[in-house]
Amino acid sequence: MDKNKFKVIVVGGGLAGLISSICLQRSGVKTLLIEKKEYPFHRVCGEYISNEVKPFLERMDLFPAHFNPSVLNKFNLSDIKGNIAEIDLPLGGFGISRFQLDDFLYQKAVETGVEVKTKTEVSDISFNEDEFTVKLKTGEQLNSDFVINAYGKRSKLDKTFNRDFIKRKSPFLGVKYHAKIDFPKDVIGLYNFKGGYCGVSHVEDEKVNICYLSRRENLKNNSNIAEMEQAILFQNPILKDIFESAEMLFEKPEVINEISFERKASVENHMLMAGDTAGLITPLCGNGMAMAIHSGFIASSTIINFYEQKIKDRAEVESQYEKVWNNHFAKRLWVGRKTQNLFGNQFRASLSVGFVNKFPSMAKKLIQQTHGEVF
Ligand SMILES: Cc1cc2nc3c(=O)[nH]c(=O)nc-3n(C[C@H](O)[C@H](O)[C@H](O)COP(=O)(O)OP(=O)(O)OC[C@H]3O[C@@H](n4cnc5c(N)ncnc54)[C@H](O)[C@@H]3O)c2cc1C
Repeated sequence: MDKNKFKVIVVGGGLAGLISSICLQRSGVKTLLIEKKEYPFHRVCGEYISNEVKPFLERMDLFPAHFNPSVLNKFNLSDIKGNIAEIDLPLGGFGISRFQLDDFLYQKAVETGVEVKTKTEVSDISFNEDEFTVKLKTGEQLNSDFVINAYGKRSKLDKTFNRDFIKRKSPFLGVKYHAKIDFPKDVIGLYNFKGGYCGVSHVEDEKVNICYLSRRENLKNNSNIAEMEQAILFQNPILKDIFESAEMLFEKPEVINEISFERKASVENHMLMAGDTAGLITPLCGNGMAMAIHSGFIASSTIINFYEQKIKDRAEVESQYEKVWNNHFAKRLWVGRKTQNLFGNQFRASLSVGFVNKFPSMAKKLIQQTHGEVF
């Protein structure tokens, strides 16, 4: 048997890639997972996971209960001036750091028999005569019947594939800290500032995640992140208090640039795109991780159905995946893009706070629109 030939190669070992490769391998489909970095590592992420995926993770023995994830079922929203609205979250979620969660799933993938190459970057993928050739940065080439691209919101591969969204500059940057701070254990707070919003919630081990999305011009108008926070974020008294009382646990924050919420395709050149590679929902919705897990499950199930002869050919794999992906995620991404406009501006943020205070049940319905069904 050719050691460089796999049934499926999964590119990118975040949640979408880890879940899809575990599901495939557990169904007997020989899978290779390729991840650029080495586990464990931190990522810019609010680390609040919607409960829509909890039953699935439990069923698959993939729920990291032993880390004691925080239980988050209350939502606080503030405008830029610090006026606040509070509601219960319709479904709720849990908090766990990506440092722990992704490493835990990586261990599970290895245990399951997935072949994993870490510290390995994919530089190109081509499709010829019904077979994929996956080229690594080292020059090595591997082959597979299927490719699942789960390489996240932005990668050099997007340029290589000449994807549309990469041609346009995106105005957002993301910043994350872990901190020790006195903050209610069951609350996810979302606090507006000019040009952005900051999420605050507990993860495991008494640690609190502080993660914000900001327009890039906030940073351009200040000489560094710390100055930007003092000049812009601290105008919200809640954020000023949080930042000033926090004991930051990182030497410096995790930062990412060029975060795009534009539409992307879920199938390109016969490759199935999963997680953020198929579309990133605005972080204020708090369910990009749940969508990554769910789409990883859908991509792998579609391929498993092919090997179990429930799907007749490649064309049907692609059309099935596209259809199911659209049913589950297209509307949520659209609502997320629309809701994003309500944030980062005092007038609109204060209207949102007033709306949540006056019409809590309608606000809960709106939150539900960005969340999926338990599966
Ligand atoms: C500021 C911010 C806050 C957020 N907060 C939340 C939140 O609180 N809750 C929530 O549910 N979602 C949140 N999200 C969204 C969430 O982080 C993503 O939706 C989720 O991480 C997507 O997972 P993924 O598996 O698609 O991609 P990722 O987790 O990004 O994984 C992609 C992987 O691919 C690897 N990779 C990239 N290129 C290559 C290559 N060429 N070769 C090999 N490997 C490669 C990367 O190293 C990476 O490990 C937030 C996003 C942002 C920007």
